[in-house]
Amino acid sequence: LHTDAVLEPGAEIAATPAQAHHLGTVLRRGPGDAVALFNARDGEFAATVTALRKDRGAFAVGDRLRAPRPEPDLRLLVAAIKRDALDWVVEKATELGVSVIQPVMTRRSIVDRVNTDRLAAIARGAAEQCERLSVPTVCPAVPLHAALDAWDGAALFVAAERRGAMPLRHAAAGARLPLGWLVGPEGGFEGRELDDTVSRPFVTAVALGPRILRAETAAVAGLAVLQALAGD
Ligand code: SAM
Repeated sequence: LHTDAVLEPGAEIAATPAQAHHLGTVLRRGPGDAVALFNARDGEFAATVTALRKDRGAFAVGDRLRAPRPEPDLRLLVAAIKRDALDWVVEKATELGVSVIQPVMTRRSIVDRVNTDRLAAIARGAAEQCERLSVPTVCPAVPLHAALDAWDGAALFVAAERRGAMPLRHAAAGARLPLGWLVGPEGGFEGRELDDTVSRPFVTAVALGPRILRAETAAVAGLAVLQALAGD
């Protein structure tokens, strides 16, 4: 279970209402049962459930199981797409080790709202399932140009399907983290929008082959390539 509390042997920490509910109702655990608690700052620790009621609970922290380690700084900028597809992208991106998920509003985005809390909960669940120590930061959605204006200059690859762009595997050969991966919405980027994006000095337009992939496929496929080439 992920926790923001400070983890050290002997610590007593409270469960969140969601954790208490999940432990008692879904996992059918109770006082005396063993769990593992983790966060990126302290690592992973053995723990024992010491109390559990409907939406309250507590843990006694035991020995450290894993030390914290630096996580790859691989960031995903993904256009706001339909809810189920975005949920899936957040889950898979978390499994693939992204550090930050930044939903962006693009000209052809057909959804006008992104529920950041819901996506953060999905990211937390996926991090617990895949045993990474950190949970990616899910940022509130912002317009694409604002995300580009705020970008810190790390190399950013934009998935551009019809521009004769260089294959991602060539463009990213030898690339180093931090890296970003930007994917458009169901209807693709508008021409001027893509022009503005690639005019930024840190952006390179790249392709994932001759087929038109769904946005969610492109998001996950590109992250897998970048992890293989530059991540861990
Ligand atoms: N409406 C667009 C069209 O018909 O040309 C297709 C958009 S595609 C479904 C959604 C997004 O996935 C694109 O904006 C792009 O970022 C990414 N994408 C899809 N296929 C790709 C490919 N072969 N190479 C690079 N990016 C791709």
